[in-house]
Amino acid sequence: MTHPLILKFGGTSVGTPQAMRQAAAVVRRSRTTHGPVVVVTSALSGITDLLLQTTRDAAQNAHGQARNQAVERILAAHQAIAAALLPPDDRSPALDAVRQHVETFRRLVEAIAVLGEVTPRACDAVASLGERMSAPLLAAVLEAHGVPAQAVDAAEIIVTDATFQSAQPDLAASTPRIRKRLRPLLEAGVTPVVTGFIGATSEGITTTLGRGGSDFTAALLGAALDAAEVHIYTDVDGVMSADPRIVPEARTLPRLSYREVAELAYFGAKVLHPKTIRPVVERGIPLRVRNTFDPDGPDTLIVAESETTPGTGKAVTLIRDLALLTVEGRGMLGVPGVAARTFQAVADTGTSVVLITQASSEQSITFAVPAAAAPRVVAALEDAFAAEIARRDIDRVALTPNISIVTVVGAGMQHTHGVAGRVFTALGDVGVNVVAIAQGSSEVAISFAVTAADAENAVRAVHGLTKGGDVVHSK
Ligand code: ADP
Ligand code: ASP
Ligand code: MG
Repeated sequence: MTHPLILKFGGTSVGTPQAMRQAAAVVRRSRTTHGPVVVVTSALSGITDLLLQTTRDAAQNAHGQARNQAVERILAAHQAIAAALLPPDDRSPALDAVRQHVETFRRLVEAIAVLGEVTPRACDAVASLGERMSAPLLAAVLEAHGVPAQAVDAAEIIVTDATFQSAQPDLAASTPRIRKRLRPLLEAGVTPVVTGFIGATSEGITTTLGRGGSDFTAALLGAALDAAEVHIYTDVDGVMSADPRIVPEARTLPRLSYREVAELAYFGAKVLHPKTIRPVVERGIPLRVRNTFDPDGPDTLIVAESETTPGTGKAVTLIRDLALLTVEGRGMLGVPGVAARTFQAVADTGTSVVLITQASSEQSITFAVPAAAAPRVVAALEDAFAAEIARRDIDRVALTPNISIVTVVGAGMQHTHGVAGRVFTALGDVGVNVVAIAQGSSEVAISFAVTAADAENAVRAVHGLTKGGDVVHSK
């Protein structure tokens, strides 16, 4: 059988009647031009956020009215699409599925409100509902557009570990299930519409793959089904030289290596989930990022190796909401294993270090963590180094709030002289003060910390330097 195409639609590609109509048109066309197609869908835009926010509020015992409003908003968003795109006598099965999941949502958040606390497992049970509502709706819309389709719950086919909210899929265990469930549908000419983002443990308990995880689902299905290609449909023209919301003149990057995309995603380019890369790279399956609203416009092809055009990087990314922590003291030189103990203490709080920056001297260690985790990490470090702090070997654990990390990414930079110098000159020209520079852990990226207030200016200033070796893509 022809290798299937995997088409993944993000929240904004299914979030309104117009968007879902457009997504359905893309699916129909791909079926005509290619053949078998597997669709992966996100929740309608805003729904996962709303589900999780309502859950957190319920745990804080917020007023029940907020829960009722959330229920109404969720129903209204799905009903608006059904009303616009489904014939009147065809709406009820899809809407019944939506109502059933909304009811589950209502019951779960009521229970959480009674308990006054929420576990990661319960968060996943709630967060999974967004995709469980969007998939039957999209399947119904496809049917109404003449594409035989069936919604498939990924909890049936994607087996993960029990790390709730960031579960690790087991591709070997999932592959036979994926094939067994999806191949017969494809052979019968039916397009499966699979819920992105979610999976289940081998005991059948619902998990999620982490925020933005529907991209990952698409890649897993692509790997398991030996897909011809995986297409990630989103609301911008592929992976661009910067977030177009910050830099309106950002350009589409026509080809990127897996390595570069992983780096971009890691350093904040939300357009692609970082873990997406692995399952497809290992099998040499082409991955494209395209605009649902301009499917023939510029797009990005992710390849194993990209050209290493010399130049000052290809793209600039931004991570917001960080804090810098510094462990410092003149007595630190004599204290054994400070770095190891520092990062062990951070790891024990369950916090991941976004990056370690170049120390201004050997008497300090500076690193960035998510702002929300910073107070917890400071407490853990003060505890770990209590003896050294009492002896004044370590003066303090300092916290700098409101930090953003700006990163320039691009293979080829390592062969180009003076990149750092040009970057810092450009920042100086617009009056941006660099708080810290990242250690050169990666050959294809240079990162630096700036204050949140300077962040967008810094991105624009550095973006101005990336124009060099790039070709603007056109088709
Ligand atoms: P989806 O819902 O389709 O998964 P996301 O919101 O997860 O979409 O990702 C798309 C968004 O990523 C874009 O709207 C854009 O604002 C943002 N983005 C950030 N950096 C980049 C970049 N370098 N290239 C393209 N988009 C980017
Ligand atoms: N709906 C999920 C989220 O908002 C997954 C995704 O969109 O990829 O994180
Ligand atoms: Mg996304």
